[in-house]
Amino acid sequence: MDLNLTADELAFRDELRAWLKTNVPKDWDERREESLEARFDYLKRWQFKLYQGGWAGISWPKEYGGRGASLMQQVVFWQEMALANAPPFANVLGLGIIGPTIIAFGTEAQKKRYLPKILSAEEIWCQGFSEPDAGSDLANLRCEARLDGDHYMVNGQKVWNSYGWAADWCELVVRTDPNVPKHKGLTVVLLDMKTPGVEVRPLRQMTGETEFNELFFHDVKVPVANVVGKVNEGWDVAIGTLMHERGTFGAGLQIVYKRNMERLIELARKFQRNGRPAVEDPLVRQKLAQCYAEIEIMRLNQMRAFSRISATGVPGPEGSIQKIFWSELNQRFQQVAQEILGPYGQIEGPDSHAVDNGMWAYGYLRSRGNTIEAGTSEIQRNIIGHFVLGLPKSY
Ligand SMILES: Cc1cc2nc3c(=O)[nH]c(=O)nc-3n(C[C@H](O)[C@H](O)[C@H](O)COP(=O)(O)OP(=O)(O)OC[C@H]3O[C@@H](n4cnc5c(N)ncnc54)[C@H](O)[C@@H]3O)c2cc1C
Repeated sequence: MDLNLTADELAFRDELRAWLKTNVPKDWDERREESLEARFDYLKRWQFKLYQGGWAGISWPKEYGGRGASLMQQVVFWQEMALANAPPFANVLGLGIIGPTIIAFGTEAQKKRYLPKILSAEEIWCQGFSEPDAGSDLANLRCEARLDGDHYMVNGQKVWNSYGWAADWCELVVRTDPNVPKHKGLTVVLLDMKTPGVEVRPLRQMTGETEFNELFFHDVKVPVANVVGKVNEGWDVAIGTLMHERGTFGAGLQIVYKRNMERLIELARKFQRNGRPAVEDPLVRQKLAQCYAEIEIMRLNQMRAFSRISATGVPGPEGSIQKIFWSELNQRFQQVAQEILGPYGQIEGPDSHAVDNGMWAYGYLRSRGNTIEAGTSEIQRNIIGHFVLGLPKSY
């Protein structure tokens, strides 16, 4: 793939750069002490502004509110957002995985109804896949949906639902036929989280946040019109979502890593190690250079994933390589950060001794979940072993 920008891409970049220069808010980094909800409202407003400016859904079709541009322009977009130190989008799952699933599998009516509001952040989405007995083995899920006239009656439970507390809608996988092999008989439905019978309970993580939830469903009515793809063929739709989660989700992350890397280098100039600035310590220099190289590898692997999607329209199983890489890289990077910052790195904000309002303590703890969310590292290695290397299937 040619990584040089074409004339069109350069023009796109310049237009975006000018817009970001006048519109990026400067106070996002100072808001770490605000509540999860207040910070989220701020990000929703920021996403709405991006949407109004024509900068949400760069590669999504124009008729659904996107920009209709190329995937390469989407990549340029992420790079410029990072350079401008712009806050992230609020509707992370809607934009990254659920919107693309609706584009690939949804009806025309569903695309018109849901996609523009995902882009504008007027409707926030969560993903209802995992259950207490169905994580790695997702096909084991039991949350049931029985057909009852023009709607399904949903009963059961989901768990670990990121953004469940903020969500207006949920991409839910349910069992519509319990009498067939477990990968069959599953269906994906779009659930309005305000429907009577939906209960959202917070789950507290070791970071102290309640970023994700448990969802309980008691006789929840979901219209038949909200089925995505075909009834009992939800496994293919769910795998489509997971492929996006593994293949393209890292695009924005790579930029965040780059920004964190630059900040860590700044800090390593200030923090002392053996009586001199940490950047002068040979071991610290080695580790920083290694992280830098790995972040660059992540960028190139991301380009490879995008290149495949441009050619085929869908991400492939090699997205699992990217998933392992970004999650394990972040854990290595956060470890290096703790080694450089010493005890100060462990202090959470708000505290006058905390580094960057406790961002590094949070980052270290939060990174532990990276090798579990979107499928564990063991599962990704099984996928690579079977689908990429052609090894026998794991049981
Ligand atoms: C931060 C975070 C956010 C999340 N957000 C969401 C969300 O928004 N929506 C959602 O639906 N889910 C979400 N999840 C859930 C996540 O998808 C599951 O936790 C994950 O798929 C693992 O499932 P499990 O927790 O049931 O572990 P299990 O599947 O029980 O696995 C336990 C251990 O056994 C290993 N293992 C299992 N099977 C195999 C095998 N065949 N070969 C080798 N090793 C194996 C696993 O790797 C793991 O180490 C989130 C999780 C986290 C940590």
